Amino acid sequence: AKDEGRDNFQFYSSDMTDKALELILMEANLRQALEKNEFIIYFQPITNAKTNRLVGLESLIRWMHPEKGLIPPDKFIPLAEETGLIIPIDQWVMKQAMLQVVDWYKEGLNPGLLSLNMSSLQLKGDEFIPFIEDLLKSTNCNPEWIQIEITESQIMKKPEEAISILNQVSALGITLAIDDFGTGFSSLSQLKRLPIDKLKIDRSFVKELPNDEEDVAISKAIIALAKTLDLHLIAEGAETIEQVNFLMNHGCDYIQGYYFSKPLPQKEMREYIIKHSQ
Ligand code: C2E
Ligand code: CA
Ligand code: CA
Ligand code: CA
Repeated sequence: AKDEGRDNFQFYSSDMTDKALELILMEANLRQALEKNEFIIYFQPITNAKTNRLVGLESLIRWMHPEKGLIPPDKFIPLAEETGLIIPIDQWVMKQAMLQVVDWYKEGLNPGLLSLNMSSLQLKGDEFIPFIEDLLKSTNCNPEWIQIEITESQIMKKPEEAISILNQVSALGITLAIDDFGTGFSSLSQLKRLPIDKLKIDRSFVKELPNDEEDVAISKAIIALAKTLDLHLIAEGAETIEQVNFLMNHGCDYIQGYYFSKPLPQKEMREYIIKHSQ
């Protein structure tokens, strides 16, 4: 038994080294990917379920790896956040997505509100506001075409700092949404102080609708909360007509999910806009 223990330990420690090495390699690869332009943006439609019309789209990054193919964000965003690479990555996404949306508007299309994911790290310092002001100018993007999504848990890490920056973002005319709402334990009093316009109900609460009693109760409570605070609501992750109907019947009109469309590459998104825009 003693030998076994030692073997296990050795196995464990060499495994740790492998893991550390893999992380270092991954970080170098991520840095290169940015330089070599290997990231691409997909767009997922957000729909007014009552009218079936497109109201906006969320930009979602993917990594087009030369050997491994398309890598989803869950595989590299956490590391990007840990290493700070998320800042240049998100800045790249913001710029490319804005340029794309401006192009669509120029073409006479109406993509609706462009929703951008923003990491909490961007909330630090006085750099974000001048950055986004410059970007809006240089891309010719109207701030009213933009929505920034920030997760509830990221806001709650440093609420005071977040409130201050979010106020400045909001003053630029940009819409603000809390992402993954219901998973970050914000208090009502904190929520009231945030200059936000929308809540996005996390997919984990939508997944088991309308059968799971707890999820039914939670989503009803979130919808009621949004009404009370006069916030608009988007539900994410609706895959079935039952989920869409439940959400609509309970007063949540804006829906993003596979039921309407998976995230699409640029060309397909353009087709989608042509078919579904208001
Ligand atoms: P998120 O911001 O909560 O984005 C929604 C995720 O749910 C997307 O996954 C989307 O494809 C997925 N989804 C939407 N509807 C459905 C559905 O009906 N069923 C299922 N099974 N999934 C659905 P994706 O694109 O893999 O992105 C995962 C996460 O990666 C995002 O979650 C966000 O946290 C992060 N992320 C993606 N792009 C960016 C980015 O440009 N910057 C930052 N900072 N984070 C990003
Ligand atoms: Ca999001
Ligand atoms: Ca989300
Ligand atoms: Ca999420």
